[in-house]
Formats: sequence, structure tokens, C-alpha cells
Amino acid sequence: MRDQLRRLEEAARRLEPSPDARQTAQRAVLGYADDFLDKIETVKAYETRAGKGEGLLESPISEEGIGIDEAIELIRKNVDTPGLNPASGGHLAYIPGGGIYYSALGDYLADIFNRYAGVFYASPGAVRMENMLIRWMCDLVGYPAGAGGNLTTSGSLANMIAIVVARDGKNIRSADIPRSVIYLSKQTHHSVDKAIRVAGLGECPVRFIDLDEKFRMIPEDLARKIAADKAAGLNPFLVVASAGTTDVGAIDPLIEIGSIAKEHGLWYHIDAAYGGFFILTEEKKDRFRGLDLADSLIIDPHKGLFLPYGLGVVLVKNVEDLRRSYSFNASYMQDAFAAPDELSPAELSPELTKHFRGLRLWLPLKLHGLAPFRACLEEKLLLARYFHQEVQKIGFESDVEPELSVVTYRYVPKSGDPDEFNRQLLKTVIDDGRIFISSTVLNGKFTLRFACLAFRTHLSTVDTLLEILGSATEGR
Ligand SMILES: *Cc1c(COP(=O)(O)O)cnc(C)c1O
Repeated sequence: MRDQLRRLEEAARRLEPSPDARQTAQRAVLGYADDFLDKIETVKAYETRAGKGEGLLESPISEEGIGIDEAIELIRKNVDTPGLNPASGGHLAYIPGGGIYYSALGDYLADIFNRYAGVFYASPGAVRMENMLIRWMCDLVGYPAGAGGNLTTSGSLANMIAIVVARDGKNIRSADIPRSVIYLSKQTHHSVDKAIRVAGLGECPVRFIDLDEKFRMIPEDLARKIAADKAAGLNPFLVVASAGTTDVGAIDPLIEIGSIAKEHGLWYHIDAAYGGFFILTEEKKDRFRGLDLADSLIIDPHKGLFLPYGLGVVLVKNVEDLRRSYSFNASYMQDAFAAPDELSPAELSPELTKHFRGLRLWLPLKLHGLAPFRACLEEKLLLARYFHQEVQKIGFESDVEPELSVVTYRYVPKSGDPDEFNRQLLKTVIDDGRIFISSTVLNGKFTLRFACLAFRTHLSTVDTLLEILGSATEGR
């Protein structure tokens, strides 16, 4: 048995590269990353001509490994070239973020040390760091001392966590579902619909609140619909407002909706995944008054703080609500919850073993300080206003003044179908590749979207887009 163990040990120890092998791999990986970052200003935002990653399949997973250079070549060619380049400042399509560098270093350290951030007993420092970040965000939105939250992978997961808490907070049992009403708007992010379904609330009646000309919920319509439902013997229990819709950047009237929710005893959830961090700007912070009225809310550091993908946050005004839905007991964990000084993420989320996500947020916040984040957010607001103004000068319609950093616009040609024209225009911009934009449908019309939240987007990026749009519509 000892001989066999020695043989297995020899093979298993290859999982620990020697200092030399580590150096070689590090040099190759860092060199590859640095080369990408050095060229980021000129790399395309969208590449349509580089295949679709098929090369990966020609190198199947097998018993023997390959060299780091060969692996990097596979990644470069098949993963990091085709399709959307979300690290590019030219990504102006789907609420981008970017991927700030110090986050990657935070992830690197989190992965090397592999501290277990699920339970205070196991890693008091890691849990304290995550709780400190959650407290910082609670303070930003004006939540009281009893609030808490969870660092999760994304806004979608954060919405799912919150909708379950709303369900349990209002004690919606299966028999209550057919008469328990949810109030949304047509601008509510689809991850909320998904969350409702996953939470087992798919058979709740849903009312869509009417929108004003800027796509914001009309509070009077909400009050009216709740009253009608109550009169019909139904049980209104949840309203979801958006603080920055994905489609157009609209902020619902948060205070008015909050007081209606309170008056009628509804759970109030606010989706601030996209817009929330604009609260850091002098210009917009007042527009977010009312966030503190929400029973739960979500906010996405991988959008508004420009982190690489993988960090969304749910905050709950009374952390006991979160605990009611997610605490657990397991006899093998009995040592872990003896006398905690801090709440543990494992008691407050569906996850147990988890990535130590706090470090990817803490490190950049500590190294940069808040000032450059504020400046970057203010820059994005101003770029949106600049684009809104300039795109009209070259003949586009752009009716809605941007509330945040999304601008919607379309070109109406002298002849031909405008929807078809704008569809072609979208294709022209994407084929060019320097800038990546998207589209939506507003009031039944095909409309182009400028969504500006990549930290590498600056004045010259927007000028390039204006130039492309200008020459594609000249004389039309
Ligand atoms: C992006 C977004 C979400 C979903 O967040 P992910 O992090 O993409 O899962 C939810 N709501 C709004 C308003 C968003 O913009």
C-alpha cells in the first residue's frame, strides 16, 4: 500500500507546479494579458470574422496536458477574438462594465489563498471584509443598522434571492399564489420575471403599471390597480420598481411608489442593478432618494463599478428577512455557528461553498479610492448627454432626454421603411466593429440604443460612433 501511495503521490504532485514551472506559466499569462491591455484602445469591440471558437473542439480534454503557450494560443484564437469584446470602450450595447485591472488581481489572490468566505468561523477576515462592503453599500442607499445582504454572482441571482425573501416575508404559501398579485412595469428587467417563476410564483397574477412618456411607472395607476385588486378580494403583495431601467435608463418615482407600498402593506423591491451606483455622483444622487424605502434592492458592481463579470449584490432592509429564507442547519456544521461576531454569507444566501468575491471589490476600492469611480460615472452621464445632443445634429430622432447613461435614437430616412433602415444601420455599425451598439423596440418602433457604462469609453469613442452614423446616413 505504501508503494502504491508513493506512486500516486508522485503523479498527484504534478498539480503543484515547481517554482520554475510557475514562473513560466505566469510570464506567459501576464505577457498575454499585458499585450491585450496595451492594445485595448485599437482592438475591435465586435469581431464577426474570426469563427466561433470551433478550434477548441480540436483539442479535447485528455490524459496528458499541453504547454501554456499552446493553451494561450487556443484561448486567444477561439475565445478572446470572436464576438463581443466587453473589455473594449467601444462596447456601447448591453449595459457594459469593463473589467478593471485591480479586480483581476483581487481574484488572483482570492484564488491562490482560497479563503472560505461562507462562514465567519472559517475565515473571520474574509467574512468581515464582505460584510464591511455590504455595510458600505447599505450606507450608500440609506439603509438602517439592521440591514444586511449578500455578494452574489450577478443581478439576476440577486433578484432571485430577493424575490424569495419577498415571498416568505409576506408569507405567500402555495394556496395563496393564485390570488397574490405582483406589480411590475413593461420596463422591468426580465430577470425579475425569471425570479418570479423560479420562486414558484409563476401563477401569481401580474399587473403592468402604465408608463409616462419617459417610461416611468405612473404611481396613480399603481394605487388604482392595487385598490381594484383589493376590492376584488385579491392579495396584492409585491411591487418592483426600477432605479435605472436597462432599456432606456428610466428611474421610477421611488418615493411615491414606496409610500403606496407602505400604505397597502406590499413588499417593495427596487432593481438598481444598472443605475444604483450613479448615487455616487453629485448630479444624480438626489434622483435615487427613496431607495431606503425598499424592503429589498439589488445593485451590480459588475456594471456600475466596472468590475469584471461576477458580482451582483442584494441588500435587505431587515437582515432577519434574509435569514428566514436562507438559514439552515446541518449537523456537520455545528461548530461553525457557535458564537459568531458577524453574520455569515452561508446563512443569508443559497450558496455554501463560494468564491471569495469580496476581494475583487475591496482591492480596487482601496487602491483607487472612490474619486476616480465618481469621475468615471459622471463622465458617462455627460457622454450620454453629449451623444443625445450631437446625434440629433446629424439628423437622428432622440426624443427622450437621457436620465442616466442610455440614449435611444433612430434615423428616419426620406424614403423607405424606417424600421428596416435602422436595422441595416445597426448591421453597418456592427460590421465596422470599432463600436458595438444594440437596439430595442419603443412604442412599436425599431430603435437604436447607446448604453454607456464601460469605464474605457471616452469622448473619442463617442466621436467615432457619431462619425460612423453620420457617414452611413449622409444624404439618406
Ligand atoms: C443587468 C440587469 C439585471 C441583471 O443583472 P445581471 O448581472 O446581468 O444578471 C437586472 N436588472 C437590471 C435593471 C439590469 O440592468
